Amino acid sequence: MVLLEVKDLSVVYRTPFGIVNALNDVTFSIDKGESLAVVGESGSGKSTLALAVARLLPPNARYVSGSIVFDGIDILRLSSDEMRKIRGTGIFMVFQEPATSLNPVFKVKDQLMEAVRIRYEREGNTFDESKAINEIMSVLKDVRIPDPELIIERYPHQLSGGQIQRVMIAMGLLMRPKLYIADEPTSALDVTVQAQILKLLKDLKNEYGISILFITHDIAVASIIGDSIMVLYAGQLMELGPAKNVIYEPRHPYTQALLSSIPKISKFEGRLPIIGGSVPNLLNPPPGCRFHPRCPHRMDVCDKVVPNLVKVNNVHVRCHLYGQ
Ligand code: ATP
Ligand code: SF4
Ligand code: MG
Repeated sequence: MVLLEVKDLSVVYRTPFGIVNALNDVTFSIDKGESLAVVGESGSGKSTLALAVARLLPPNARYVSGSIVFDGIDILRLSSDEMRKIRGTGIFMVFQEPATSLNPVFKVKDQLMEAVRIRYEREGNTFDESKAINEIMSVLKDVRIPDPELIIERYPHQLSGGQIQRVMIAMGLLMRPKLYIADEPTSALDVTVQAQILKLLKDLKNEYGISILFITHDIAVASIIGDSIMVLYAGQLMELGPAKNVIYEPRHPYTQALLSSIPKISKFEGRLPIIGGSVPNLLNPPPGCRFHPRCPHRMDVCDKVVPNLVKVNNVHVRCHLYGQ
């Protein structure tokens, strides 16, 4: 069953230098209990996509086209008040900078308590502090926080990065969202903690049936967490499909290039150079396929015509090598 359906989404930012074309015609969906990992280099539009879905874009951003239907509701038509209710309950987002996700002036306990209170209110139940504490302790155990009774008495600055992430995951679980959006939640952490958090998220997805939209610049991380993977480049969706297809039979030259940088899972080692050049300036994106200035397979048509998204088996790919 589809939980989130995004169609032809385009977003721009107004800046003193002109219009930044941050997202261009992005289409995808996430089923209930499924995870989608979005991968791409810095500036490819990953955070813009996450913020657009949560309707948390900054004031200089504008939805140019498209629709976002969450749990049957067209959220671009909701008032800010109606949207706030959905964010408290249906959609929970952890931002790119974990430290900014918690309020620095309140103890962990107060913030988790507030999350439970909001849910009780939504469910029409009276708040019961001792029940709430029991629930908080049990969820902190689920997210494998050591010494939870000590941790909840602390302020956010007294926690490590890994602990903050776990507290944020716990908060998400106490809220019981239908969709959990995590924007690069592990990139600031060391590799071991990263692996633990990813495993934890996967376990929790299976246990609680929560859908996940996970953002990362690392395709190896995407392959661990995503049931499906979307590859974004310069605001364009380049490839989207089940993780095993995208990882083991990548079709788009950009996906192949991303994979060539991780030797262990790459069949392309030695065949493709590590991607030269950098993500284009989105104030004035390249015409046609936005990847053409860096593409080893570029053809005459590539800088003239924007490739359509075509379906090859069960993968969607935007490249003139496929389709017509
Ligand atoms: P990173 O991996 O560095 O977090 P990202 O993939 O999340 O990158 P976005 O932050 O979505 O990329 O940015 C996409 C494009 O939009 C970039 O060109 C960026 O400069 C631009 N952009 C992002 N936020 C704003 C803003 N508030 N105002 C103007 N331009 C913005
Ligand atoms: Fe390369 Fe052309 Fe495909 Fe773009 S459309 S990825 S430039 S072959
Ligand atoms: Mg980002």
